[in-house]
Order: sequence, then C-alpha cells, then structure tokens
Amino acid sequence: MGTYPFQDRPPLVAVTREGMYCAAGDFHIDPWRPVERALITHAHGDHARTGHQRYLAAEPGLPLLRKRLGDVALQTLPYGERLDIHGVTVSFHSAGHVLGSAQLRLEHRGEVWVVSGVRL
Ligand SMILES: [Zn+2]
Repeated sequence: MGTYPFQDRPPLVAVTREGMYCAAGDFHIDPWRPVERALITHAHGDHARTGHQRYLAAEPGLPLLRKRLGDVALQTLPYGERLDIHGVTVSFHSAGHVLGSAQLRLEHRGEVWVVSGVRL
C-alpha cells in the first residue's frame, strides 16, 4: 500500500490552513483565510468572506454575493457550465440551500469530486 490508501495520487481536495484547497487547479473552496483564487459555494457569511484576490461562484448568487462582498473581482458561471482551471474542470450545480447556492463539481484526470457546500 502506498502513501494514499485508496488511490495512487494525493486527494484532489485537501484541507489546509486557509481552507479546502485543490492543488491541481490551484484554488481554494470557501476559504476562511485570504487566498488568491476562491471558489464560493454560496453567499452565507461562513462561506463567502472578504479578502480574497479573485472569486468564482454560480451566477444566480451574484446579487447576494455583491451585497456581502462589495466590489471584488467576481466571476460567475451559470449552473452546469464548465470552466477549466489548470486542467481541473469545475462546474456549479444548484444546492437548493439559498439563492445561488451551489454544489461544486471538480473533475481531474478521470476523477470526480463534489463539494456540497454544507458544513457538518
Ligand atoms: Zn449556508
């Protein structure tokens, strides 16, 4: 058995000091400390924080995110639309939580992860 018990490569998403981090795509998800690129699942304050360089979120959440974050560098994607970030295909899918809330789908080299946006 190698370093990783269930596969031959590191997990696509890992928890770091700043929050969840996708090393392959070099972005964070709902980070709690300032980072360069933050993918945001929804506009609640424990997910969408100020202080990041760039934001990416689902388009329907734009009004709420603008209200919370102000005039930040915020790019949005319609639900289901895919974006390639350094070889990681990301897309947002409705989470039915608050307006514009999303689950985040990540695909990299045949591996698919879903980040629900729910904190347990
Ligand atoms: Zn929430």
